[in-house]
Amino acid sequence: MSMQTAVVTGGAGFVPSHLIDLLLANGLRVVALDNFVTGNVRNIAHLQGNPHFSFIEQDVSEPFDVAGPVDYVFHMASPASPIDYVKIPIETLKAGSYATHNSLDLALRKKARFLVASTSEVYGDPEVHPQQESYWGNVNPIGVRSCYDEAKRYAEAATMAYHRAYGLDTKIVRIFNTYGPRMRLDDGRVVPAFIGQALRGEPMTVFGDGSQTRSFCYVSDLVAGIWKLAQSDGHEPVNCGNPHEMTIMQFAEAVSHHFGIPLKLDQKPLPPDDPKVRKPDITRAKNFLGWEPIVEFDDGIRQTIAYFRDLVS
Ligand code: UDP
Repeated sequence: MSMQTAVVTGGAGFVPSHLIDLLLANGLRVVALDNFVTGNVRNIAHLQGNPHFSFIEQDVSEPFDVAGPVDYVFHMASPASPIDYVKIPIETLKAGSYATHNSLDLALRKKARFLVASTSEVYGDPEVHPQQESYWGNVNPIGVRSCYDEAKRYAEAATMAYHRAYGLDTKIVRIFNTYGPRMRLDDGRVVPAFIGQALRGEPMTVFGDGSQTRSFCYVSDLVAGIWKLAQSDGHEPVNCGNPHEMTIMQFAEAVSHHFGIPLKLDQKPLPPDDPKVRKPDITRAKNFLGWEPIVEFDDGIRQTIAYFRDLVS
């Protein structure tokens, strides 16, 4: 059988760059597209010279094409950090809307499978805990996060519409908080924020009282789940995340423990619409994909700290 080809939008981003590594390791050819709004060329630098990898600098919110046959389209391009939603809300909206249409159209033209990166943010500030895929969410449509949340909800709607109207083979992964090497040190998210602060000897900026919870999934686990989903049958959204839930205060304690330093805090106000609890119910992924995370938090955070240490040294 000839090599299969995957197109990955946002390929220079944190999660997509790990997905590309996995696809190449599984014998696929990969074409990555990125306009470097939030992606970084460093994340794909190790692929330079790989004959099975090619890169196109492209804003996928604008129409685009890719030469030759394509078997999978992974639409992963989007800003994904709360500080991005404030700085580049229009780009964030377009990544979920125009870019989703352009990526769906590519999949349609190429008769390829389509997978869209959705998010736990479709659940908003959830009133149901843990979050199952059947929950419709509690999103503020005009809040500071709405450019991301609503764009991703739109992306899901567009994906289901192409599936229903054209019979396109579509998948939707709802990604929960993910961490690991290649995150942006300055993207404002809690994992790089606290690790960066610990590296610089600064206090950790806990927002609110730190009682809000998140469940952190190591990136290698996440992309393994995405690849399993891409190869599966079925079109329902699937949560991919780690159900190991902790408060942000516990996360700060864990990071300072790993650095062997006393916990120093600089408490700041909680940003508006910051979800109070978040934990995936991954029963569907377990039953349907035979997938669950395997990387322990202590191992994942050690690898992540090692990456950021190297980056700043
Ligand atoms: N957070 C924090 N300090 C920071 C950055 C984030 O306390 O410097 C909190 C934030 O308020 C949220 C949680 O950590 O409750 C996770 O934030 P992040 O931006 O990583 O992602 P989110 O899950 O909110 O999209």
